[in-house]
Amino acid sequence: MSLTIVQKYGGTSVGDTTKIKNVANRIKSYYEAGKNVAVVVSAMGHTTDELVSLADQITDNPPKREMDMLLSTGEQVSVALLAMALESIGVPAVSFTGSQIKMMTDGNHSNAKIDSIDRTRIDKAFESKRVAIIAGFQGIDKEENITTLGRGGSDTTAVAIAAALGADECEIYTDVNGVYTTDPNKVPGAKMHKQITYEEMLELASLGAGVLHSRSVEMAMNYGVTIHVRSSFHREPGTLVVSEDKIMEKMKVSGVTVKSDQARITIPNVKDQPGIAAKLFSALSAKDVIVDVIVQSSPHDGINTISFTTAKKDVITAKPILEDIKKDMTSGEIEIDDSIAILSAVGVGMKSHVGVAAKMFQSLADAGINILMISTSEIKISCVIPQSKAQDGLKAIHSAFGLDQI
Ligand code: ADP
Ligand code: ASP
Ligand code: MG
Repeated sequence: MSLTIVQKYGGTSVGDTTKIKNVANRIKSYYEAGKNVAVVVSAMGHTTDELVSLADQITDNPPKREMDMLLSTGEQVSVALLAMALESIGVPAVSFTGSQIKMMTDGNHSNAKIDSIDRTRIDKAFESKRVAIIAGFQGIDKEENITTLGRGGSDTTAVAIAAALGADECEIYTDVNGVYTTDPNKVPGAKMHKQITYEEMLELASLGAGVLHSRSVEMAMNYGVTIHVRSSFHREPGTLVVSEDKIMEKMKVSGVTVKSDQARITIPNVKDQPGIAAKLFSALSAKDVIVDVIVQSSPHDGINTISFTTAKKDVITAKPILEDIKKDMTSGEIEIDDSIAILSAVGVGMKSHVGVAAKMFQSLADAGINILMISTSEIKISCVIPQSKAQDGLKAIHSAFGLDQI
């Protein structure tokens, strides 16, 4: 039986027709080695951003269904061009949209979750010795509306296909050599990992390391798919994302991230009584507002303050909810600060080492950076800081943890 390989090429890897031809040549070498090749492709270059900006020119608040209809077109262009490029060099190929492979999702437009995939058409492509080229980022719901999986979601399409086909490895081709200790485009001293655990990669991706879509890592972990993040510009191996038991040396801190697309909402003068937090956060979650760091001050004279962070784009949804429950919660004015950033350090070794948080706080203090909020888990520490200090803070903690020297 032929070995099945799944490859995903991101927007920069298919940014123009020359790059698409290069990608086709790379695929050809795997095809000629006798492999069944399934390829997931993103939209070319900045196409998705350009489509978003077209919608912005029409309205501030486009219907989510129509937005997905619009954004999914980017991937349809690149799958067709890649299939043509392969055919032109003698490699039989067939392209598929999400609906053609029954990539079934829930109906949550712009952030849909995959329920199931029908592999029949992909198997037929393999039987007829064709490369299957699949549009990333898109699916359909039960009513056959086109959905999208969230920005960067083609990674998740690729891992889902790898899981459905039982492929051992899913190669994610991108514009950097692998997963680094932090974004190498922000901190030039960042170092590449040969391997990283699912757990760490999941935290890093959720905390702003845009190199992988966080749901792709979650899915790879659940289905035991090894992810290989590597460059589409040369043949060197990149970073393997694997389970913890495959890694001998556990790093105290393996990566640092910064997320600047966040806002902090503060509700002062909150009555200290049962049910208040439940009411607030249930109302937000009912409208799919994702809340990240939450801090509640200790009560003073029966009054406390609740602060939380959420994505800037969700503030527009959160505002009417807050207005609605304001009178039951507080006599004060709700503050929204969108000039914050969340700085985080992640590492599985934190489970067994002390002093990691102290080191992070000290390095921020030395850089003169004020910490606005703190949150921790077993393998991460996050500090909310002023956005104007994001870049300085990232560099400070990256070197404090010795990550430029690994
Ligand atoms: P693609 O279009 O291939 O999906 P993305 O732009 O989504 O590419 O992801 C690659 C980018 O992720 C890199 O160019 C880099 O700037 C960014 N990045 C952020 N954090 C990291 C990290 N820890 N390691 C590697 N790249 C990172
Ligand atoms: N084209 C989509 C985006 O730009 C999906 C992806 O690239 O993964 O977000
Ligand atoms: Mg990406």
